[in-house]
Amino acid sequence: KLVSKTHPEHQTVINISDTVTVGGQDLLIIGGPCAVESLEQMEQVARHLAHTSVQMLRGGVFKPRTSPYSFQGLALEGLHILKGISQRHHIPVVTEVMSIEQIESVVTYADMLQIGSRNMQNFELLKALGKAGKPVLLKRGLAATIEEFVMAAEYILSHGNPNVILCERGIRSFDNFTRNVLDLGAVVGLKQLTHLPVIVDPSHAVGKRELVEPLAKAAIACGADGLIIECHPEPEKSVSDARQALSLEDMAELVNHLRPVAVAV
Ligand code: PEP
Ligand code: MN
Repeated sequence: KLVSKTHPEHQTVINISDTVTVGGQDLLIIGGPCAVESLEQMEQVARHLAHTSVQMLRGGVFKPRTSPYSFQGLALEGLHILKGISQRHHIPVVTEVMSIEQIESVVTYADMLQIGSRNMQNFELLKALGKAGKPVLLKRGLAATIEEFVMAAEYILSHGNPNVILCERGIRSFDNFTRNVLDLGAVVGLKQLTHLPVIVDPSHAVGKRELVEPLAKAAIACGADGLIIECHPEPEKSVSDARQALSLEDMAELVNHLRPVAVAV
């Protein structure tokens, strides 16, 4: 398989922008809200995180909501906000793409394309990403096996795009104390099986802000190449995933606490 590690040092390093890479020495830390809600919201996030080790911003503009009556995202307006923020603050951005038709505009406005859990096995979408020309952040499906996850990445690579980052974001299980169950064994396994960078999303894995930091640290201890964490200027007012959003102050503090763990591994 194209994704398979052929020897222990075989590791893909992906350039996301002139200054940001993933898969090498540096931890990639992505922060931002679940959804782009306004220009002011994203300005606050960017300003606050500018002086931290957060290297990339996130924010959904096409939101895969459980209910069709919930906020669906700002769409093109959100893409314009992301682009402006990215240019003014010299920071790359990632946002989710849910359909083949959205790829063209997301490629124009964002530095990396996120494929959400609900689309991990949308094979036509995966094939189209092969020609996207930008890195893809592929999130593990809600109940996908490691084999299914790896084969989803294989779809993108085999259609021409070698720049895929795998993201463990928790899987469904019987206990709903945490939103999902973070599969750290998968992180270790994926690092051994594939040469692709592997990052962890502790926010969607646990769904509760007070559980995010310990699992972020554990992910790094398990060899993750980076983290994607949700934060918001007013967490409890988030239009989506409010319960797991960190305040910007807590986010800045959290990333400071990661350095000693990264040094230790
Ligand atoms: C998200 O990152 O906001 C998201 C919807 O994540 P997932 O696809 O992992 O549920
Ligand atoms: Mn979210």
